Order: sequence, then structure tokens, then C-alpha cells
Amino acid sequence: MYSGVLRSFWMRVLSPPVDLAPERRRSFQIFARTYLFVTAVHVAFMPLFLWVGIPLLTGLNLLCIAVNVLAIRLHCHGYFVLALLIKLAAAAILITVASMLLGNDIGFEYYFFIILFEILISDLSRPQKLLLSGILMSLFLAMIHWLSGLLGSWSLGEPARELLHAVNLATVFILITFIAMQVYSVSETTERRFRSDASRDSLTGVYNRRAIIECAEALWEQRRSLALLLLDADHFKQINDTYGHSAGDKVLRHIAQLLQRTLREGDSIGRVGGEEFLILLPDTSCDEALSVASRLRDQLVAQPCPLGKRTLPVTLSMGLALSYEDKALQGVIDLADRRLYVAKSAGRDQLVAEGGDSLETMVHGEIFTGSSSREV
Ligand code: GH3
Ligand code: MG
Ligand code: MG
Repeated sequence: MYSGVLRSFWMRVLSPPVDLAPERRRSFQIFARTYLFVTAVHVAFMPLFLWVGIPLLTGLNLLCIAVNVLAIRLHCHGYFVLALLIKLAAAAILITVASMLLGNDIGFEYYFFIILFEILISDLSRPQKLLLSGILMSLFLAMIHWLSGLLGSWSLGEPARELLHAVNLATVFILITFIAMQVYSVSETTERRFRSDASRDSLTGVYNRRAIIECAEALWEQRRSLALLLLDADHFKQINDTYGHSAGDKVLRHIAQLLQRTLREGDSIGRVGGEEFLILLPDTSCDEALSVASRLRDQLVAQPCPLGKRTLPVTLSMGLALSYEDKALQGVIDLADRRLYVAKSAGRDQLVAEGGDSLETMVHGEIFTGSSSREV
């Protein structure tokens, strides 16, 4: 139960506001995680401050915990700059006061590097970053030269000072490692998502036009034999007109899923037009490509698209072309397109794998009609 509550809290804190621009999501995730981790570090420091026995530091640490919790809330509600500023200001005050009370050899000044790191990786503007870095550097120098020990060196034994110094060094090391790892992992995930968004068709999840053409170009450059299958849903406009656009969308998703399920690993599929798909079958002979097409067609007959209580039968016309049939990739794509056109003209729900050298050409290839296939 506790893990469920913790998980939902974690998900809530890490979920960006819905209206947040995609380019801001990376920074949102990094800082949400950083605030949570830093809050945990402050909590972990409580026993140490109690042990040191300086009530002012214990109070300031409690204040930092409260400020971090507030910063998390502000951050989740989109007040990123305010959240960052109050969090960094509270940390800077704690560090400075600790140094004024305990002197410089305790290692509190190292935390300034974390503050600087957080400023530099934030979404603040460049002038804001320069200004804050300047203020931070001034405070750092002032702390080292004038402020350190200003409130009188608190009487701490040498072992206690050494222990505090070691704990501070280790904590700074852990914090920098944690934040840097968050930057890396969130950036990697974000980049992967952007790359996938840029190459996927948002409706069906298969490659979009640009990505499938890039795949084809890559295979072409490797000089691999390639079968190229161009498919177009028949009378698709009628589906839209009769059942509505969202039913049409559902049919498109159904076709894409079925194609994905039926194709082999290594084959690629992309949506190249409204209801038009391009399939790349690398290292595939003409006979193999014909049997793939036949399998696709059988699957579509066996699994019509479910729509409410009924099912919508949908058929495909297909044009097949092979890489050896033209000197250029675009030539092969055009050939498949012409054959698809021939398949449409010949009555739809069929595959044309030959001819199509010009639009006037008769249909010579393999043609599926009805439930059987026949040679014309
Ligand atoms: P044919 O058998 O000759 O291919 O006829 P068709 O009706 O399938 O072809 P046509 O080009 O006349 O119409 C294609 C339709 O596909 C028209 C367009 O509104 C629809 N369409 C295009 N993209 C989408 C989409 O993303 N979703 C839906 N639901 N329909 C789309
Ligand atoms: Mg169509
Ligand atoms: Mg079309």
C-alpha cells in the first residue's frame, strides 16, 4: 500500500503540467528529481545538525526542507524560476551561516559548486545565469575571506570537524553525481522520444513518410535486394462518409496493427499518404514478397476492423516492385505506384506485381480477386 502511495506521489511530482511546452519538459523532469533528492539529503542531515548541537543550523535545515517542499509545489504548478530561486537562496543562507558559525575547514563552501551547477543547467536566460553566477561568486569569496567564523568558531572537537568535513565532501560528490546522472538520463529519454515522434505517424504509430523513405534509402545504399509493396485502402472515403472520420481513423490503426503483426522482424512499414502504406521487405525475392502480400490480404479478410457491435470489412489494393527493376530508388517507388494504380483500375482488392511500365499497360502480374488468386 505504501509503495502505491509513494508511486502515485512520485508520478504526480514528475508529471509536467499538461500545457508545458515539449522543450521545457526535460528541465522540468531534471529539477523535479533534484528537488526531491535534495529534500531527502536535508532530512538525512537532521541527525547530524542535532548532534553538532547548534540550534540555529538545525532551524535553518528545517527551513530548507520546508522551502524545498514549497519549491516542489511551485515547480509542479509551473512557477519554475520562483521555485529555483527560493530553493537556491535557502541553501545559500544555510551554507553561509554554517560557515560563519563553524569556520571554513568544515567544507560547507563546496555546496556553492552545486548551486552554480543548478543555475547553469536551469532554463534561466543567459543574463539571469550570468547575474546569479556573479552574485554566487561574490558570496563565495566574501564567505572565504570575511564571513567565515564571523559569528565565532563554535567549539567543536577536531574529530567532529573532520567528520563534518568528510560528510560534506561526500555529500557534494553524491549530489553532483546524482544531478549529472539525471541530466544525462532525462536528456537521453527526451531525445529518444523526440526522435521517435519525428519519425512516427501519430495516428497509426508506424513510420511516417519521411522516415520510411529514409529507411528505403539506407537499404538502397547498402545495395540490398529489396521488395517494395505499396498498399492503398479501397473505397476508404466511403468508410469516412458512412461511419464518420473517427471510424476511418480506427480502420487505419487496425490496418497498421495488422500489417505490423503480420510482417517479419526487419521489414519496415510507413504511412505515406492518407490511407496509403509503404512496406519494405529487405532481402526478399519476388515469390516471397507475393506470399507476404497474400498473407496480409488473408489476415485482413480473417480480421475485419471491429466497430462497436459490428465489423467493417476493408480491402487493400497493392503494387509490388523490386529493387532490380530500376536503377534508382525513386524509379522503383514510382513503378510500385503505377502498379497500385493498375490494381485500382482493374477492380481493387488485388496485387499487381508486373507491368505498369506505363499507365496504359495491361495488368500482367499476379492478381488476387475475391478469395482466390489467379494469374492474368
Ligand atoms: P480508392 O479505392 O480509389 O483508393 O478510393 P478511396 O476512397 O480510398 O480514395 P480517395 O483518395 O478518394 O479517398 C481517400 C480518403 O481518405 C479521403 C480522405 O478524407 C481520407 N483520409 C485521408 N487521411 C485520413 C485520415 O487520417 N483519417 C481518416 N479517417 N480519413 C483520411
Ligand atoms: Mg484508397
Ligand atoms: Mg489513396
